[in-house]
Amino acid sequence: MTTDTLTITTQQVQESRISQLDYNNIEFGKIFSDHMLVADYKNDAWQAPQILPYGNMSLSPATSAIHYGQAIFEGMKAYRSADGDILLFRPYDNYKRLNVSAERMCIPQLPEDIFMQGLEQLLRLDAAWVPPTEGSALYIRPFMFATDDFIGVRPSSNYRFTIFSCPVGAYYNAPLRVAIETNYVRSADGGAGYAKAAGNYGAALYPARQMQQKGYHQLIWTDAKEHKYIEESGTMNVMFVIDGVLVTPAVSSTILSGITRDSVLTLARDLGYKVEERRVSVEEVVEAHRAGKLQEAFGTGTAATIAQIATIHYNGEDLELPPFEGRDISNSVAAELDKIKTGQAPDPYNWVYKINL
Ligand SMILES: *Cc1c(COP(=O)(O)O)cnc(C)c1O
Repeated sequence: MTTDTLTITTQQVQESRISQLDYNNIEFGKIFSDHMLVADYKNDAWQAPQILPYGNMSLSPATSAIHYGQAIFEGMKAYRSADGDILLFRPYDNYKRLNVSAERMCIPQLPEDIFMQGLEQLLRLDAAWVPPTEGSALYIRPFMFATDDFIGVRPSSNYRFTIFSCPVGAYYNAPLRVAIETNYVRSADGGAGYAKAAGNYGAALYPARQMQQKGYHQLIWTDAKEHKYIEESGTMNVMFVIDGVLVTPAVSSTILSGITRDSVLTLARDLGYKVEERRVSVEEVVEAHRAGKLQEAFGTGTAATIAQIATIHYNGEDLELPPFEGRDISNSVAAELDKIKTGQAPDPYNWVYKINL
């Protein structure tokens, strides 16, 4: 990690909007903290980043990201510990993944100091926006997009990297009803499914809405070729406990490599559970359910950490899964992960990054 400090010119807000925030009743994704970080790429180089009051950006109607989707993002959270510290969870992994996505989308690599020091200085300034209430956090959204005002289809010459944040309340672990998708495709071999690229999400809205109209919250994507193998659930990775073994699809070019996924697998192994990363067929899951061996199913991602699945719809049938209380593996991993993220348990993996306030 670079030690010399990057100069980030900062224009502070005249008056903070923090008084608008009710820590006990946070509306998701609607109220943004006071500041944002902005760094532009032009003339083949990243320009000095700036911290500015959160606000609208002025863009040309021809801005290439809007037309051709040369845009990528990240999602991460900062938590407030009991001591009042601000703790980021694995931010360096988000940084690395942003650059993996950037490469796939012909977006220039972002230097580490702009991401890490930008994040650090932004959070120091907006520290009051990290909610102290249990289960809540500051959701952080780094993103990069093409800014050429040119409507030809080619990689842009200019880009903007931005980070803004918004406080989020405790995730309500609603019993998720998911349906296995065997018609639409999120991602195919050779595609960009492993990248957090904007277009992947736009294209997923329609199939997701079709399922929602049938009464399911989310879908489980299957492979593009045969619709036989399970990929992900909505915007989460998906895991199953079959006969005491934690089973999850191995990451590939079609699956986004979740940081929560990796954390859950690491903790599960270290808590002594058997873990398998491999191809998981729909057939295997349905058969396991039939045999009474499908004990747990859940999604993993930054928003929910672990989102318990209650029902899996497949082939005209609703498979009802065991109650959440008895799900020992996901419940114990979720509890441990939560303690590490909030500084209540030791962090042998060096996942937690403390902001120097
Ligand atoms: C972001 C994302 C995930 C989860 O990744 P985390 O790093 O755990 O938040 C899983 N699948 C898709 C498609 C995603 O976009």
